[in-house]
Amino acid sequence: MLFNRKYYDVIVVGLGAMGSASLYQLATQLSGKGKKVLGIDQLAPPHNMGSTHGGSRITRQAYYEGKEYIPILKYSYDLWRKIEHDSQSRFFEITGGLMMGSRNNSIVDKSEMSAKAYDLPYEIFDHKEINKRYPMFKADENTWALLDKLAGYLEPEAGVKNQLELAVKEGAEVNTGEQVQFWDAENYAKGIRVKTNKGDYIAEKLIVTTGPWAKGMMQELGITLKPERLIQFWMKPTNNAAAFLPEHFPIFLWNVEKNLDIYGFPAKDGVEQGCKVAFYPHEDHEMREFCTAYNIDREVHKKDIELIRKYLSQYVPDLNGECLKTAVCMHTESPDLHPIIDFHPEYRNVCIANGFSGHGFKFSNVAGQILADLTINGKSDFDISLFKADRFSSRLSQK
Ligand SMILES: Cc1cc2nc3c(=O)[nH]c(=O)nc-3n(C[C@H](O)[C@H](O)[C@H](O)COP(=O)(O)OP(=O)(O)OC[C@H]3O[C@@H](n4cnc5c(N)ncnc54)[C@H](O)[C@@H]3O)c2cc1C
Repeated sequence: MLFNRKYYDVIVVGLGAMGSASLYQLATQLSGKGKKVLGIDQLAPPHNMGSTHGGSRITRQAYYEGKEYIPILKYSYDLWRKIEHDSQSRFFEITGGLMMGSRNNSIVDKSEMSAKAYDLPYEIFDHKEINKRYPMFKADENTWALLDKLAGYLEPEAGVKNQLELAVKEGAEVNTGEQVQFWDAENYAKGIRVKTNKGDYIAEKLIVTTGPWAKGMMQELGITLKPERLIQFWMKPTNNAAAFLPEHFPIFLWNVEKNLDIYGFPAKDGVEQGCKVAFYPHEDHEMREFCTAYNIDREVHKKDIELIRKYLSQYVPDLNGECLKTAVCMHTESPDLHPIIDFHPEYRNVCIANGFSGHGFKFSNVAGQILADLTINGKSDFDISLFKADRFSSRLSQK
């Protein structure tokens, strides 16, 4: 019955990294304008069932994924600081970051190209210097490091929580524990119908940021997203524990073999809580475990811990102590490893953002601003041509 439906100017579906940022931006931009904004999530973000948990995410500016990101990354730093200020909390630390690997079209070379293009502060050094400055790493003669002096880490749960709280302060409504069953942008003259397990709404505009749960929606558009199971491990240092504190130990991303990186963080909560480390397998590496948000194996097995130990014993042996904690998480890979941040190809009153391919948290705050700008103004001041939905499918570009 139409008269039972609640009306909103904008509804955001999914309140993880992208959705919380979108809701915050919408609420801020629409504050005092008599507009109604609602965010809906099936769970209660920040939670540990999607892509945005584990206490830390790397941020950096020398971006081997493409120099096109750098204006967005620079802006994200200012925006995170503003969010910290407005929420009176601290969840963003600069530690410097080491990108390590060989020197042949590697993350070292590609990071350097982007750093040069934007005159970012960095250093490059060889294995002797790595082992001298950072004796916890065991680098061989083929290993080089680019030190990105602006790299550091963000705490993703704090980012989500603070942006949701700020959005509510600005007048947004947040419904958690409510699952959107379908939305329909075709059959309602007044807008988009959003049907959940608890209610029925009409929105003038919709933003859909459902992370790994977006796979089905994107498949209907001919775009294959691949959610992937990844494990975060918290390891206690065995020796030289103080060397792993943030004042000595940077974040690192180390390409240890073809299509396999190990990355890690300093002991940001003290050495007793350990350092978080994880694998980042890519392309055709045998370690990859594709899944869906519905069938992912959320248990961590003995073999998973044995595997990280094997690599730590070779590359960072002092971190191969007690495994204190683990957490399973999902990346969602797009076909070209760049996200989709755009209007829905079929409906101009719907915006989508997904496929962040394991590197989206650091600029999720800007993604939220882009989505709010597209929704409110129909355009963004950022160059988002890399993120267009129609790049994948001739079916989409014909529309
Ligand atoms: C292990 C790991 C390490 C990573 N490391 C980094 C890093 O170092 N640096 C970096 O920048 N990025 C990193 N990333 C990537 C980054 O964390 C993700 O790109 C980002 O968190 C994705 O956020 P999201 O909002 O798209 O998805 P999510 O946070 O999963 O949010 C989706 C939300 O949608 C909700 N939802 C889904 N379906 C519905 C429905 N029908 N109704 C209502 N709600 C729904 C879900 O409950 C969920 O809250 C990492 C990711 C992982 C998994």
